[in-house]
Amino acid sequence: MTSHPRIAIIGAGPGGLTLARILHQAGVHTTIFEREEHSLARPQGGTLDLHAESGQLALRRAGLHEEFSKIARYEDQGSRLYDKDGTLIFADDDADESDRPEVDRTALRQTLLASLPAEMIRWDRGLHAVRPLDDGTYELVFESSTTGPFDLVVGADGSWSKVRPLVSSYRPQYSGITFIEFGIDDVDESHPELAALVGRGKIGVEADGRGLIVQRNGNAHLRGYAIFRVPTEWAERTFDFASPAKTRARLAAEFEGWAPSIVGLIEASNDHIVPRPIYALPVGHHWQNRIGITLLGDAAHVMSPFGGEGVNAAMLDAAELARQLLENDDWKVAVKTYEAEMFERVVEPAEHAAEAVATELSHLGAELSLQHYQAHLDARLQGSAA
Ligand SMILES: Cc1cc2nc3c(=O)[nH]c(=O)nc-3n(C[C@H](O)[C@H](O)[C@H](O)COP(=O)(O)OP(=O)(O)OC[C@H]3O[C@@H](n4cnc5c(N)ncnc54)[C@H](O)[C@@H]3O)c2cc1C
Repeated sequence: MTSHPRIAIIGAGPGGLTLARILHQAGVHTTIFEREEHSLARPQGGTLDLHAESGQLALRRAGLHEEFSKIARYEDQGSRLYDKDGTLIFADDDADESDRPEVDRTALRQTLLASLPAEMIRWDRGLHAVRPLDDGTYELVFESSTTGPFDLVVGADGSWSKVRPLVSSYRPQYSGITFIEFGIDDVDESHPELAALVGRGKIGVEADGRGLIVQRNGNAHLRGYAIFRVPTEWAERTFDFASPAKTRARLAAEFEGWAPSIVGLIEASNDHIVPRPIYALPVGHHWQNRIGITLLGDAAHVMSPFGGEGVNAAMLDAAELARQLLENDDWKVAVKTYEAEMFERVVEPAEHAAEAVATELSHLGAELSLQHYQAHLDARLQGSAA
């Protein structure tokens, strides 16, 4: 890049931070604006598996693969399926050689943050809007201040991006699926029987138009999602989230008739119980290039989490946008090239995620899950035999 645009990145999620880090390593300055007050203002969510060809590749380019190896949990890649009576119907307990290690989202974020100068990140700056100026640059509008001008504004601000409206009129649509998230702390000590049920990785159970996924996270924490196909407002109408005890009891009642061992996962949960309605942008979402504005990650292509691609796609977007910016003399050409390639790259994972969410909780649900888990195991075994 021969000219040096003034770059603002909106959002200190995995996508925004990866972009900032790769550019920083190459001596290109950016400023990140993040809505949260500080890095630990809210729990960052559960465990993520980082794929070799995307999430891990991005960390390599960011010079952080060694740091990553310290927080990666190769030992937690197993998967099991149970039926609602608690009978084990599938187990892949020997997956620790797989190349999709788990990492806790908070640990990943902390690793990326630690690799950047603290002053690069402006916390507590929730963007309201981006205002185009007459000279082709942009100003950022916050609640009680404005800042700028910037030549390039990168929206890495997730599903409800405030940058996206400058290039696209699409908004994410509700998928029909709502997760209710719960967690169990210190499970090895407090509930060894539940720790043994889940094993080293994740379990799935699907029956009666309901589902459960529970994953082992770092620090002996289990994170679970109860899954329902319901209207958007159902969760708020059904549960009293202000009272975790009532929510827990009501949630357990949704699984009446299931094995006590499985319902026990909900009953043992701590007070962090929150609804997560699943939204997605249409497959193939794209926009006409607009000089000085671009998007990456969920802001560009939020998809249902069933494919497990979201964070990987976000980090690969970041790595590719950085690569284009560093390799091209003209940053405007770089952004255009990045967008054209990204639009194509995400079609397949977005299609896959859309199909997975569309068939979740169908009358074939448990059978499809079994096929899916088996296909993963077969691919892994083939890979290790090759
Ligand atoms: C329940 C659930 C489970 C998931 N599980 C997986 C999984 O197993 N594997 C996987 O790959 N993906 C998973 N995902 C998807 C994954 O979380 C996202 O794809 C990924 O976090 C996208 O990264 P990002 O950097 O684009 O956006 P985000 O992680 O959403 O980060 C956006 C950042 O921007 C900030 N921000 C938002 N608005 C503003 C604003 N107006 N001003 C300033 N800052 C702002 C936010 O605070 C945040 O820090 C899951 C998603 C959900 C909902």
